Amino acid sequence: ALSKPVVTRIAPSPTGTMHIGTARTALFNWLFARRHGGQFLLRIEDTDRARSTPEATQTILNGLKWLGLDHDGAPVSQFEQAPRHAEVAHQMLAQGSAYKCFSTQHEIEAFRETAREAGTSTLFQSPWRDTDPEEHPDAPFVIRLKAPRKGTTIINDAVQGDVTFRNDQLDDMVLLRSDGTPTYMLAVVVDDHDMGITHVIRGDDHLNNAARQAQIFAAMGWDQPVWAHIPLIHGADGKKLSKRHGATGVEEYAAMGFPAQALRNYLTRLGWAHGDDEFFTDAQAVEWFDLEGIGRAPARLDLKKLENLSGQHL
Ligand code: GLU
Repeated sequence: ALSKPVVTRIAPSPTGTMHIGTARTALFNWLFARRHGGQFLLRIEDTDRARSTPEATQTILNGLKWLGLDHDGAPVSQFEQAPRHAEVAHQMLAQGSAYKCFSTQHEIEAFRETAREAGTSTLFQSPWRDTDPEEHPDAPFVIRLKAPRKGTTIINDAVQGDVTFRNDQLDDMVLLRSDGTPTYMLAVVVDDHDMGITHVIRGDDHLNNAARQAQIFAAMGWDQPVWAHIPLIHGADGKKLSKRHGATGVEEYAAMGFPAQALRNYLTRLGWAHGDDEFFTDAQAVEWFDLEGIGRAPARLDLKKLENLSGQHL
């Protein structure tokens, strides 16, 4: 039994279509929440103002609706939380777990260049890390995390096992830019904390980010969620899924006439196993879904299977 009510989420960036990888991530989060009588939340990661569009948000909403993945509560706009992100960065500053860094881009590049020539680590080490705030100049600054320099950061991942990162290979990440806007890392952690997310189930392309996010959780003294990084979907040839393998957008599958239930069944089974069973009803999927059944190898898209399931679900 889980000690807290389960709260999961998906956090898509509204910049294009609804990729079937996003759909599968949504499905796993939805199944896990429903399995445990918890909540499945939706956060639109629209902080990148140049790339985010209302049309793309609508595509995601439509895709979720078509797939029957109802989310709890209203979608959260990450952009709208920006004041809260800044507040947390300033709280970390006040607590001493973050610092103002006045280094210019030019100085950072010069640091890297010198390190390259000397054959030492090119990870930027800010000279401002240990400066007395009294001595700060009146100049633009970013807020950086005072990340641990020694030891390791370990992600106990429900899919990948324990993944260890060396702290001397993670730099003092920027939390707040000089214009006061939050970085992606800060925004995700603050939102996941504020939304009460208990399980972060997402693509394993975010595994490295988890180490950085874990450092922010630790600096704030917040509980980390349970992490579950799912291997990405690959094409039949084992290469990362792209247009060349066929349709990648949920809306394309809908337009081709595949029943939503068949795609849902197919995606449930893509990277998650329950014995040899291929055909599921929705009720069975909710009853059986667990994180233990998620495999460590990338799943391969197999349109034949989807076609067979479509026949069975008609
Ligand atoms: N916005 C990220 C993406 O679309 C997801 C971030 C997350 O799930 O933590 O890949």
